[in-house]
Amino acid sequence: MQLVRFRPAGDPAFRPGLVHEGRVHDISARHSTMARFMEAFPAGWSAKEVLKPGMASHAQNDVELGAPVDDGANVYLVGANYKKHALEAGLDVPKIPVIFQKPTTALVGPGGAIRIPAVSTQMDYEGELAVVIGRRARLVKKADAPRYVAGLTICNDVTARDLQWVELGKHRIVDWFSSKCLDRSSPLGPGIVPLAPAGGDPHKLRLTTHLNGELMQEGETSLMVFNVWDLVEFCSARVTLNPGDVISTGTPFGVGGFRKIFLKAGDTLRVEIGGVGALENRVEKDSS
Ligand code: MG
Repeated sequence: MQLVRFRPAGDPAFRPGLVHEGRVHDISARHSTMARFMEAFPAGWSAKEVLKPGMASHAQNDVELGAPVDDGANVYLVGANYKKHALEAGLDVPKIPVIFQKPTTALVGPGGAIRIPAVSTQMDYEGELAVVIGRRARLVKKADAPRYVAGLTICNDVTARDLQWVELGKHRIVDWFSSKCLDRSSPLGPGIVPLAPAGGDPHKLRLTTHLNGELMQEGETSLMVFNVWDLVEFCSARVTLNPGDVISTGTPFGVGGFRKIFLKAGDTLRVEIGGVGALENRVEKDSS
């Protein structure tokens, strides 16, 4: 039932697909974009509802998966949203959500390579639960927020620690652009699962991050400072959230950078969330 964005070998364009019984079904004739799909199924979906006779399907090994978000969609992320992570980063626990954005040019799909660019030597992983918006949301109250979240996915909010802060005289500001927006740095996926099978509650999920097979992060989504419904209320009071937009909800304790562990070419990362899936990527130096 995972909604994915895929392309058959040799095809330049990613398109929506549904994974069912081990095959990727091409649903793009009915749902041309992830946003259109979310509009059609904001309350969740099943294979029976989505799959129609005559749709082509592909063996999973014959397709490449992309990040499950349309090019140019808005991807919002939350900083320091777990107390123990805020403390390991030397920060206070935020009193209001701290939101930033990542352009879709910064994303890579499941199995794709995380690129270490020439401008950073301190790239770090951040495993996170991400939620996908199902309905246009503006000025949504927390109590109504569950209606606006259609699905769940996984984000690895890869961050350049050496580019995260800029000194400006007496002040130090966060450079979200240089630290969080680097080309092809941040995995998203592998697909989107509907919120409903998680019981409609994304706050009871276990998250782990493994680096080269070693457990680095182990968290529970119940420990967010601001939960998903808080975040929908906060964001939608400031911007319009559109179907297919993503909010990544912050990383728990255990990132590498504050213990001097940084990503290097050849590393593998695996972020796993119970009931959502596993997002696995290797790390490469950008040679382009
Ligand atoms: Mg993060």
